[in-house]
Amino acid sequence: MEDFLFFGKYYEINFFLPNLDFLKISFTIMVLGVFAFVSPHLSKVPMSQFQRSLLVFTLCFLGSGQILFAQIFEQDRNRLRNTRRLLQRTWQLDTPIRTNVYHFSFSVRDYQKSFAELQTAANVALWNAYVDGTDEAFADAAAKSLAFSKFHSDPQKYQGLKRIRETSAFEKLTPIERRMFEKAFLMFEQNQLPDELLEKMTKMSLEIEQVFQNFRGELDGQTYSNNELLNRLREGADSDDRRKTWDALKQVGEEVSQKLIELAKVRNEAAQKLGYTNYWEMTVHFQEYKPESLLDIFGELDRLTKPLFAEMKEEMDAELKLRFGVEMLKPWHYDNPFFQQPPPSNEVNPCDFYEKKQREEIAEISARYFAEIGLSVEEILRKSDLYERENKCQHAFSFDIDANRDVRILCNLKPTDEWMDTQLHELGHAVYSYYNDLELPHNIRTPAHAFTTEGVAMFFGAKARSPEWLAEYAGAAPEQV
Ligand SMILES: [Zn+2]
Repeated sequence: MEDFLFFGKYYEINFFLPNLDFLKISFTIMVLGVFAFVSPHLSKVPMSQFQRSLLVFTLCFLGSGQILFAQIFEQDRNRLRNTRRLLQRTWQLDTPIRTNVYHFSFSVRDYQKSFAELQTAANVALWNAYVDGTDEAFADAAAKSLAFSKFHSDPQKYQGLKRIRETSAFEKLTPIERRMFEKAFLMFEQNQLPDELLEKMTKMSLEIEQVFQNFRGELDGQTYSNNELLNRLREGADSDDRRKTWDALKQVGEEVSQKLIELAKVRNEAAQKLGYTNYWEMTVHFQEYKPESLLDIFGELDRLTKPLFAEMKEEMDAELKLRFGVEMLKPWHYDNPFFQQPPPSNEVNPCDFYEKKQREEIAEISARYFAEIGLSVEEILRKSDLYERENKCQHAFSFDIDANRDVRILCNLKPTDEWMDTQLHELGHAVYSYYNDLELPHNIRTPAHAFTTEGVAMFFGAKARSPEWLAEYAGAAPEQV
């Protein structure tokens, strides 16, 4: 029931998928034609030789000509729909006829080419927005990201890819080819949304990003960067002063809260349109996790680590209560406003090994380390943006711009253990992308999965506080660590 052509590596794949129902109908009509020709009963029916020949001819023509018809009409969806309507009326069928013959041609070469062009354009525009923070840069990023989404919103291509996956021909592809189709299918699936909704989601999320990026907290009539506030929090000895700093770190919340709620609603609407309960469930699905097993894993991790965590936290809290002279701890007593890192203990503070260095040394140390393990990051660092600036994104990330060795990281380096960790973490992601196999089709020239690149990045980030590494690269005396 299917024909499968595959020309050359990643070039042209054609799937010819006749619909079974259609073949049954064609066959029936042709049998009727033959029956009309040979049946002795029909010869008794009063009709002229010409009428009889015409009837037989029409039946045979209808039967055998359908494949050809549908193939011609397949080029034009409206015409095909009209044909179907006509066929339905003529044959009084109560169920709509599905595409009679489905000939779907997917040019892998064209897809990869457009994918690479559109994705690179969107990534360059996003990078420019994150480093400049101007309205024009953000508008350009929104337009190019939207173009990439819309490229994947074509319903005909989506349906075609969906059917390809169900054929036995699909099984004959190599694992790399199957993965390429699977990833393309997922991209089309998540963008099967009306243009207005895609546009709304892209614009709203970038608007929020821009607020986060341009916002600077205010304290006693002066504005501060995120780095400066975190530093104040780290050094603040007085509870009231720490509270003021913590409040300044959270001021951005007032600016974005309404926008975030609106975005959540729009995203949930999109998720429901695609058949998911909510945006979280949808995102998890498109990241190729199963929501239930993800929740199970974290449930189990929580169960296994809860008693140990509680014990360590109690110990840490006791130290902090003593340090600040308070009965009860509040969020601002912890150095990390999201409690993602423990505060330094009374015995050792890893920040001590970095704070006397220049911020440039953090970059130099990272370059030396990666060079020594045989994963040079020179080219990556040359294109990266490492130091803080007005209107620049205040966070950190690694960005694979073109899946073709243009990999950059964005950081806001300061001489702290936190930023040493982040620098190594982002370079961990960056080397994972940079050293990718360029022979792979463009749309799968990515980490195998989000958790593999994250695992690699966390492995490298953790070096910033490990005793041997501190001695070897941060110049710590071995007896201090
Ligand atoms: Zn990461």
